[in-house]
Amino acid sequence: MRLSQMLFVTLREDPAEAEIPSHKLLLRAGYIRRIGSGIYAYLPLMWRVLQKVSQIVREEMNAAGAQECLLPQLQPSELWKESGRWETYTKAEGIMFSLIDRQERELGLGPTHEEVITTVAKDMIRSYRQLPVNLYQIQTKFRDEIRPRFGLMRGREFIMKDAYSFNEDEASLQKSYEAMDRAYRNIISRCGLAYRAVEADSGAIGGSASQEFMILAEAGEDEVLYTEDGKYAANIEKAVSLPKDLEISPFTAYEKKETPDSNTIEKVCQSLQCSPTNIVKNVLYEAVYDNGKTVLILVSIRGDQEVNEVKLNNELVKLAPQYQASTLLALSVPDENAQKKWANKPLPLGYISPSLEDDYIASGESIEGQFLRIVDQTAVDLENFVTGANETNYHVIGANWGQEFQLPKLVSDIRTAMVGDRSVHDPSQILASARGIEVGHIFQLGTKYSQAMGATFTDENGAEKPIVMGCYGVGVSRLAQASVEQSYDKDGIIWPVAITPYHAIIIVPNIKDKNQMEVAQNLYNQLNKIGVETLLDDRDERAGVKFKDADLIGIPYRVVTGRSLKAGKVEVVTRQTKESQEIEVTNLVETLKNWLKNIKSS
Ligand code: ATP
Ligand code: MG
Repeated sequence: MRLSQMLFVTLREDPAEAEIPSHKLLLRAGYIRRIGSGIYAYLPLMWRVLQKVSQIVREEMNAAGAQECLLPQLQPSELWKESGRWETYTKAEGIMFSLIDRQERELGLGPTHEEVITTVAKDMIRSYRQLPVNLYQIQTKFRDEIRPRFGLMRGREFIMKDAYSFNEDEASLQKSYEAMDRAYRNIISRCGLAYRAVEADSGAIGGSASQEFMILAEAGEDEVLYTEDGKYAANIEKAVSLPKDLEISPFTAYEKKETPDSNTIEKVCQSLQCSPTNIVKNVLYEAVYDNGKTVLILVSIRGDQEVNEVKLNNELVKLAPQYQASTLLALSVPDENAQKKWANKPLPLGYISPSLEDDYIASGESIEGQFLRIVDQTAVDLENFVTGANETNYHVIGANWGQEFQLPKLVSDIRTAMVGDRSVHDPSQILASARGIEVGHIFQLGTKYSQAMGATFTDENGAEKPIVMGCYGVGVSRLAQASVEQSYDKDGIIWPVAITPYHAIIIVPNIKDKNQMEVAQNLYNQLNKIGVETLLDDRDERAGVKFKDADLIGIPYRVVTGRSLKAGKVEVVTRQTKESQEIEVTNLVETLKNWLKNIKSS
């Protein structure tokens, strides 16, 4: 492509709308333009990158035995009602765009395709002989993200590869899952990125085992905890660990103490001269279930620990049947306004004890009259502990479970694992932390969707069984931007050869110089002919501007038909290292071809 004929617009200044380097660079270099919140146009250079990523994804999926298809983006609400996700996706999480057509039918714009694919499977799969199968598509997804940001990283319209496997049993699912695991590793390595595979929370989608693939980068929205021995890595939402050792309590007898103005753990420690590990902290949460019921939760956890709201959320979803509900709509720490809706009298905030009386809760049909009390193991282990006295400005010391306080029946791991904690698999290993960008996620779904939607098959013995499913997603557009986040310098983007929009750019410093133009055009034709995708910068611009633009857009090799032509040579600069060398014009094509071949096969 000739730059003189391209829609090629670069910006010298960082656009105000962008916060992280990859977003700034993609905007500045003319790869993307913002159309609305979380909505972007992929311009020609970006589209080439996205097609290359898609092609790598396609090749690896095909090699793993999956088949490509294309499913509808407009999805009838009935399917989502069958699976039980319509309410959660349109209201609770609110992530699905929904609409009503002119026949008054409700539709959703596909944020994911479990419902559609399970419907297809229900219609078409009859026998174990048809299993296993794995279908995938590469397509635009729609999600009404609460905080669209960072350009293509968290868009409201983005490109995803999603695959769904159908298996006859868990063992077969395990094999499909492992094949996808390998395919994902190949995809990310082939794209030239450094990544880590981590244990992940399965969230609202349901199912059991799941793993995420994280591109390591400072700007990543996710936190990963891992050990140096390489044997443990997990998203912090899911991570487990051994908490730090507790200090022996300095208190031996139960007593109520005045602790003025001590409504934080830090202030309590100062006021009572104790360690945060001596304290049972009690945190209030408010949950709203899909039947409209509000449940107040009192979580007791050791003073130096934090509640993991993802784990708490999962626990509450499990408890839904207990409240005649099927799922959770919202979980929050109630602020003053929220408290007013259900509290009979002012709560002793900052001084709450594990036995906060149920009579704080006003009676009402949609409010559960008793606190759901959950205790984390870190608090169970405490003796002679400090905790609130249910009275502002007072704490108790030297308290014990089974004496002054009844231990809640529900003991559950709801704590956040922390950097510096010891690992469960080997306590000599200490958890370290890294930031990551989630580019892929693979799930073992089990029979959640097949059971809900009646997708069954007949097994070898003639018995009818629900199909066992897995689902596997790659964020194609997010991955492309993540590559920039991992590979850039002060001058611009540095694309890995595998997904660069073009391999080489030929710069003609002075287009009025006939010789410069002629050599450039010749090389341009020859390179493109043998598959070295090449741009020709034949714009009527200063050489300096052209060099800057070439660096900014990040093409791996820059060829300059400048002064060295007198000696029959061109200058070749490698974008990544900035190394420059002069190469005989007659050897240029062969040299570039070899360099690219070596990189591709390494
Ligand atoms: P996240 O936790 O980042 O919101 P998710 O867990 O909801 O993502 P999945 O449903 O697992 O995402 O989707 C599969 C892949 O699609 C993700 O691994 C990610 O790479 C990509 N993806 C998800 N949401 C977005 C988005 N809003 N913009 C761009 N890519 C996305
Ligand atoms: Mg995910």
